[in-house]
This record gives sequence, C-alpha cells and structure tokens, in this order.
Amino acid sequence: MEVECPVCSAKFKIPDTITITTCPYCGTTFEVQSRERVGDHFFFPVINKDSGGLLLKFLSRQYGAPADIVEAKIESKTLHYLPVYFFYIHANLEGSTAEEVAFIGIPATDEFEWLLEGYPFPVRGKRFFDESIMKKGKYYEPKISKEEAEKKAVEKVLRVVKEEADISGDYFTVDRVKLDVVYQGLVHYPIWEVHYTYGGKKFYGYVDGSTGLVISASYPLTQEARKKAGVIGISAIGIGLLFGLVFAKFAGRWGLFGGLIPGIAGAWPIVFSGTRSERRASQIIRGYRGNIHFR
Ligand SMILES: [Zn+2]
Repeated sequence: MEVECPVCSAKFKIPDTITITTCPYCGTTFEVQSRERVGDHFFFPVINKDSGGLLLKFLSRQYGAPADIVEAKIESKTLHYLPVYFFYIHANLEGSTAEEVAFIGIPATDEFEWLLEGYPFPVRGKRFFDESIMKKGKYYEPKISKEEAEKKAVEKVLRVVKEEADISGDYFTVDRVKLDVVYQGLVHYPIWEVHYTYGGKKFYGYVDGSTGLVISASYPLTQEARKKAGVIGISAIGIGLLFGLVFAKFAGRWGLFGGLIPGIAGAWPIVFSGTRSERRASQIIRGYRGNIHFR
C-alpha cells in the first residue's frame, strides 16, 4: 500500500503487513494507521561482515599501498556505539527562493566527533533501541542535550540558506526565515575501530558498522610510490626551471623566477608527501546536510 509521511509528506509504498514504518526521505518513524510518530531512541544494527577484512581490502586498492596489505595482521577490533541526535529541518527565506531541506545528525558526544561531523548517515535501516547492544560494544551516553544539538543543526541550515540568498542577491535576516524543525530522535550508531600491523609498524582506521564503508584509515606507502613522488616533484621543479630560462630570454631575470616559483610551489606537496611513509584514505564523501533525497 502507499503511505504518506506525516512530516515531509513524501509518498512511498510499503508491504501491507507492516504496521510501523520509517520514511525513506526524512527518517521519521510512524504508525501506518494513525500516522502518529513513534519512539525516539534507535540504533543501527551491525552488518555481518568482518570490519578488519573490509578495511584491508579497501586499503589494497589505494594508490601506493603494498599489494600484500590484505595479509596484514589485525591486532584489535573495537565496536563503538556512538549517540547522534537527528533532526529534519526545512527552512526558507520569506520572499526568496532560498530554501533548504536537510536530514541532519549531530554527534551527542565529543568522543570521535571529528569522525561523525558532516557524516552521511543512512536514512534507512534504523531499529528501535534494544538494550542488548550495550553489551555488544563500547556504549556512550549523550553528553550534550537535545536542545544544544538542535541549535547546532539549525545554525548549519541557516548558513546554507544565507549562502543561497547571497547568491541570488536576496536580503537575509534570521527572523525572515521560516523554520520547520522536527526532532527525529537519538540514534546509537556503530563504528568499528580497527588496529593492524604491517611490516612491524602499527596503523589504524575506522569502519562504519552499519554500511561497512571505511571512514578513515592510514596505510604504509611502498618504497616505489615514495620514490615516484620524489621523481615527479623534482621534474616539476625542472620544468619550472626550463620555463623560467625561456621566459628569462624575454623578460630578463624575473622570467626565471616566474617559472621557478610555481615549479617549486607545485612540486612541494608531491615531494613532501613522498617523504612521508604513510597516508590516510576514506570512502566517505562528507556534506553538511547528511542524507538528502530531494530538494
Ligand atoms: Zn518523511
């Protein structure tokens, strides 16, 4: 049958046997018959996949990673259940086309906050809170209040509406913004912390326990990749010098600098990254507004 979300009015189909459903567009959980919203504490279940294997497999596809990194030794895997407040926010500036609809997650603890800031949380897949998850991993209680989190979420959305207004040349003041904020509840979100050793050195990373995506992980660069970075860097300086010499013919001494300076500037990050023995990689594309399916 087709149901209509009581919050964002999106229509979507569900099997006839279901009595409680979650809107795939804004994340609202409601009773199908009464269309009343239910519950406000949820969790995301952990997928049945080895986080260590997912991490190493992802790293093996990264530039400059050793081919045999998949055989690295996993030292530890810790599951963290982190609290995140969710809001559905609709904001529009009166008399302007500046408008924003967002499903925003605000981390409720400072632990791992940098990992979850602007994180694209999935809308689907959450379940009603179950105390048994507290024993499955390290469980964190929220440290900030719902109100504080709501303030942060609204600020984020207002910033975007202001940017949009600036682009279209409309006058922006906060009191002209029509705000519709719907609290979606507290969600405990699973993140794996994985430590491994390769060639006697220690590395670590984080894997999303719900999607299996690698949020952030470090890996060793092969000698070859480091050497290559050095060669590219030096040749960039060489090209700069060459151009400089050509320009110098026409523009005198300043032409030489004109070629050399951009050459060195361009080469510096490459040479620099080549001198480092490790790198970080991520499978996540961050945005301020989390998950959004329509505008
Ligand atoms: Zn909805």
